[in-house]
Amino acid sequence: MFTRIIHRATKIHNHHSLNIPRRQMSMGTTTETVVSRLKSCGLLQTKGLIGGKWTDASDGRTFQVNNPATGDVIASVACMGEKEAKDAISSAYHAFGHWSKLTAADRSSRLRNWYNLLIQHKEELGQLITLEQGKPLKEAIGEVGYGASFIEFYAEEAKRVYGDVIPSTLPDRRLFVLKQPVGVVGAITPWNFPLAMITRKVGPALACGCTVVVKPSEFTPLTALAAAELALQSGIPPGVLNVVMGDATKIGNSLLESPQVRKITFTGSTAVGKKLMAGAAETVKKVSLELGGNAPCIVFDDADLEVALKGSLATKFRNSGQTCVCANRILVQEGIYEKFTSAFSNAVQNLKVGDGFTEGVVQGPLINEAAVQKADSFIQDAISKGAKVLVGGKRHSLGFTFYEPTVISDVTNEMLIARQEVFGPVAPVIKFKTEEEAIQIANDTNAGLAAYIFTNSIQRSWRVSEALEYGIVGVNEGVVSTEVAPFGGYKQSGLGREGSKYGLDEYLEIKYVCMGNMG
Ligand code: ADP
Repeated sequence: MFTRIIHRATKIHNHHSLNIPRRQMSMGTTTETVVSRLKSCGLLQTKGLIGGKWTDASDGRTFQVNNPATGDVIASVACMGEKEAKDAISSAYHAFGHWSKLTAADRSSRLRNWYNLLIQHKEELGQLITLEQGKPLKEAIGEVGYGASFIEFYAEEAKRVYGDVIPSTLPDRRLFVLKQPVGVVGAITPWNFPLAMITRKVGPALACGCTVVVKPSEFTPLTALAAAELALQSGIPPGVLNVVMGDATKIGNSLLESPQVRKITFTGSTAVGKKLMAGAAETVKKVSLELGGNAPCIVFDDADLEVALKGSLATKFRNSGQTCVCANRILVQEGIYEKFTSAFSNAVQNLKVGDGFTEGVVQGPLINEAAVQKADSFIQDAISKGAKVLVGGKRHSLGFTFYEPTVISDVTNEMLIARQEVFGPVAPVIKFKTEEEAIQIANDTNAGLAAYIFTNSIQRSWRVSEALEYGIVGVNEGVVSTEVAPFGGYKQSGLGREGSKYGLDEYLEIKYVCMGNMG
């Protein structure tokens, strides 16, 4: 990942030499205006947070964070590695002794303060997300609400970590079950939801009494640091929440190797998730993983066309296709195929692409040049195997990492675009005949995170929902994420669940206490 930071800058440079058209308007002023507003309210932190102190890298190194819409440098951030990760683990370990012994009500009220501050700073945090991640401002502000909701939910759940009393098998014994926090948690997060992927992990961890070392993505560390600043202001004690970033492998390895870290929670690519799972074996840590998806979105002949269109557009093009629950394959039954595909293509044609700060824009830039090249190469592979481009299919005239929202038809499940996650604004459409065939195509993948179906039949809704090997199923709905429901995948999409009451279990040990001589 660290090499990819350099990669991003290099590729932007290449863009210029390739003479790819650039935006007309200079966005340097937007970056400057937002940066100065964030600075004035103390939300532009650029150092790591260790033991409650803003800390430089021990060797003074920094790396640059760019605005993906313009290439502007937003800030230089401390580039940390093994030493800082170890310091952060050690401060989390010491803070655990105190934090885990506070009453649940006390932890709850501090989390509630944090939630209030996040909401109070919704606008600024939203601007920061758009600045470093690129998503449209409205979506970014939406992410702040969504991200904060995990802190609110787990502030409430903190008070409901119940144990059990088990009827004894012997008259003089009493059997109890206690739930206790696992200890120090290492949380490694991606760039596509710079705030929500952190709060979804830190909320339940802190609620139970765990302490955390967060390693945010090097593409989007600024939102993580701003959220950490608000956590400090909310009365969450020093050392309970630490943030280090820089050399992902070194920080990751330090978290894996330390016997003091009792759990790794990760959201990101399947490849890195597998490495972390293997690395966690050495010290037998608890692991939860939220990895890549390959979501099918199945439109049956009996679907309500308007509902199917709205839902498919939302699930495919949210965050320019850069979410792990984004539809990766649109399966359309033959009877509705022509009608759906033409209406869908028209709608996609009209999606406004541009800088996330521009009013009315619904598709921002992709995160980096590698993302553009991935989308391009998947499309070329599909075309070479017989697919047709209906809309888009190339870089946007805005240049940089802007990509045209794309629809391709005549796709088969053997093409790269149907086998792997494209993570971009490309909608491949696959035609099918029967329900059985749709289920077979949908399940023919190693991934199993989210799936969507559109149908007006109640029987089919249940039948297909039960047959899909996916952790999340949206029926006549394309936006399914909420803090109150469990989020996670089957197969190689991951382990464990985040959000909801189930999300707490990931941070708890179960202790059985057997009391004898009670008769
Ligand atoms: P994506 O392709 O979505 O960027 P990654 O899995 O590469 O997904 O990144 C997700 C997170 O994992 C980021 O915070 C990144 O820095 C981190 N990461 C990448 N490689 C490693 C590694 N070897 N060890 C620990 N963390 C890593």
